[in-house]
Amino acid sequence: MPDFKNIKDYHTALLQSKTNCTDVVNDYIGKIESNKQLNAFVEVFAEEALVKAKELDAKRKTGAALKKLHGVVVAIKDVICYKDHKVTAASKILEGFTSIYSATAVQRLLDEDAIIIGSCNCDEFAMGSTNENSVYGNVLNAADETKVPGGSSGGSAVAVQAGLCMASLGSDTGGSVRQPADFCGIVGIKPTYGRISRYGLIAYASSFDQIGIFSNTVDDAALLLEVMSGADDYDSTALTQRNWQWVINNEQADKKYRIAYFKEALHHPSLDKEIKENILSLIDKLKSDGHQVTEIDFDLLDFVVPAYYVLTTAEASSNLSRFDGVRYGYRSNSSIKDLTDFYKHTRSEGFGKEVQRRIMLGTFVLSAGYYDAYFSKAQQVRRLLTDKTKAIFAEYDAVILPTSPTTAFTFGEKTEDPIAMYLADIYTVFANLTGLPGISIPLFKHSNSMPFGLQIMTAKTDELTLLQLSEHLMQHYKMYPHLNN
Ligand code: GLN
Repeated sequence: MPDFKNIKDYHTALLQSKTNCTDVVNDYIGKIESNKQLNAFVEVFAEEALVKAKELDAKRKTGAALKKLHGVVVAIKDVICYKDHKVTAASKILEGFTSIYSATAVQRLLDEDAIIIGSCNCDEFAMGSTNENSVYGNVLNAADETKVPGGSSGGSAVAVQAGLCMASLGSDTGGSVRQPADFCGIVGIKPTYGRISRYGLIAYASSFDQIGIFSNTVDDAALLLEVMSGADDYDSTALTQRNWQWVINNEQADKKYRIAYFKEALHHPSLDKEIKENILSLIDKLKSDGHQVTEIDFDLLDFVVPAYYVLTTAEASSNLSRFDGVRYGYRSNSSIKDLTDFYKHTRSEGFGKEVQRRIMLGTFVLSAGYYDAYFSKAQQVRRLLTDKTKAIFAEYDAVILPTSPTTAFTFGEKTEDPIAMYLADIYTVFANLTGLPGISIPLFKHSNSMPFGLQIMTAKTDELTLLQLSEHLMQHYKMYPHLNN
């Protein structure tokens, strides 16, 4: 199995002819096959990945300079379009659907010579926290197969965790990259809203959705982010700043950061005691190393999950109305009375339970009689949160908090209680409500032997500080203080 620390090392090995893309792709294909029980992939593009690998091997022989992602083996979540490949959002309603174009993110990876190895399992339409809502069945956490990988990008996370690819793409509407990264012990970044074009990402809640990256190192995530970010004629919400560049130098390595943490987040009753102790202990260490770490009030914490579920389900009810069985996807075979009956059958049979629940909730909060009570109120909360973040980042470089209140759940633990499942999103939805960039980095291990991460957020568009601080913490504080070892 290829064993490179990061993409940079891989490229060095390629240039020194210590390895080649064909061998590397073959290794990954073998490993995907021998880890089939994890159910991380929906489809593996083995043949074409090998063709591309051979092309790249030949290209290197001509002496051509390596493009940024030359031969980098990437997997994509089954909500991201790749021309002439199936994309189903892990839903029966998109059974057999083939993309007619590539997402901008995918096209930019391909333009830099990345190799797309396959599409990954996820929660249906990216709705969920455990990957238990997929038409393809559960994905298993490679650290402990009795545990969920997190969701909704569970397959993408496990693909990196189990070494089935070098990096992968997920989508993060309320934590779906950061939380599975936390549960699987890898890096997961959700960039600023708009940093990566959403063109070709199947919509869940458009004002929250953002493509994110899973990787083993901060370096690799930064490189992929750099390649995919930038303005896009096909997404008017994409940020225009194009020349975002990943730099880390010694000056930054010695930088003393101004970090805040939310009192209510670390003292929340739902937070696992050991996660809390580890983070508090890390805070002490950061302080003694000269960083400024300050506890600040965040009295809106209990409103973030309700606001998130009102607004995202409202957007989802509208976005998912296009799946009607008329133009594409699943169509009911039942005997049909009229058009309404046709929609009812198609959508009841095509969508899973959780997606139906959210469409109904979203339709309800948008209905004339309840719009002001729910939707408008939630919008007001969103505004308060945005104002609050401006005040915070005027004073601090970053906010740190847990990624999830617990380590990975056991299968079935929360499936009977959707509210309990939703409440576990308490630490991640804030970044999506406000558009901030957030990352989960694998700093810790629990005494139950599961990994868990630290979440960091910075000001809008400040991915550079986010990544530099993450790299600093990964280098100096990984597995620290690790109370229970
Ligand atoms: N767990 C969250 C939810 O169920 C996050 C989903 C996401 O980010 N796609 O909505």
